[in-house]
Amino acid sequence: MDIKVTLNPNPKAKPTDTSALGFGQIFTDHMFRWTWNSEEGWHNPRIVPFENLSIHPASTVLHYGSEIFEGLKAYRRADGKVQMFRPIENIRRMNNSAERLCLPQMPEEDLMQALVEFVRLEQDWTPSDKGTSLYLRPFMFGNDESLGVHAVHNAEFIIIASPVGSYYKEGLNPVKIMIEDQDVRAVRGGTGYAKCGGNYAASNRAGERAEQQGYSQVLWLDGVERKYIEEVGAMNVMFKINGEIVTPKLTGSILPGITRKSCIEFLKSEGIEVSERLLSVEELAQAMTDGTLEEAWGCGTAAVISPIGELCYKDHKYIINNNEIGELSQHLYDSITGIQWGEVEDKFGWIV
Ligand code: PMP
Repeated sequence: MDIKVTLNPNPKAKPTDTSALGFGQIFTDHMFRWTWNSEEGWHNPRIVPFENLSIHPASTVLHYGSEIFEGLKAYRRADGKVQMFRPIENIRRMNNSAERLCLPQMPEEDLMQALVEFVRLEQDWTPSDKGTSLYLRPFMFGNDESLGVHAVHNAEFIIIASPVGSYYKEGLNPVKIMIEDQDVRAVRGGTGYAKCGGNYAASNRAGERAEQQGYSQVLWLDGVERKYIEEVGAMNVMFKINGEIVTPKLTGSILPGITRKSCIEFLKSEGIEVSERLLSVEELAQAMTDGTLEEAWGCGTAAVISPIGELCYKDHKYIINNNEIGELSQHLYDSITGIQWGEVEDKFGWIV
């Protein structure tokens, strides 16, 4: 694929104080764009100066939520080079999301080329302080200029990038989570396994309620019986119960996280099996009551590993592992971030 590059004639000064970066507030000088319609397919791949979009007020995305996205990071290694973590997994998940939302498929190798060329151009924006990275946000939206409800004939794919600060300023920090028993994030047969904007819009109400009560995220239960553990906010979740490492199995309503997959594969390489199975909230409550819940943690691109120190279920507060960081949580965090930051040898072939 021939990507046409138009350089930004007015590049911005790059941030120097990475402690003030936060998440997704500053954007780089360029963006990648690619246009699709049902006659021509994907065409006009281009890198252009970062700018506002102009879309028709009837554009599909504004009315029917025809939008999918991805999130991955590029990291600066000690030798100054920049690397991405498992981008092929994001590419495949994006195509799965596209299939669910009736958006067009993208050839894997073209999307990989787009990511690599875009990151190469913007690499100077990758900060180097511990824990910082260049967050990449590929997204696609349906862009028909009509109000009919149907699979779209026009779509736009864009990649933007944002230098982001360290999730943990002072090392891993256990979080308080509320088990949500009113709203559900997703149902089987719905869009839970797809990374589409609507899932996030609909999850904000529960997230806000939890925050008002002093919790940082909600733990979602399944949408049918409100019985089985699904995931935590925008992270997958894992538990160590009586020596067994358990994570909810992918039933269709859970997002198949790349950090989740990496934790499972990493632990397997150390001879530790992870049970992917149904885990009911009663089983979890019992394990918290009898003290067999040893550790709990969320896992996702943003925090990598987020130990859970307190879980609240139906007004009952359970403290996990004395609100301390578990041994396994710390080990996973050190091992996965070690590979991401190029400090630990990548035996898995995850790095690009
Ligand atoms: N679940 C949800 C709902 C998410 O938004 C994310 C973040 N993408 C995850 C889990 C974790 O996925 P990953 O490890 O690929 O970031």
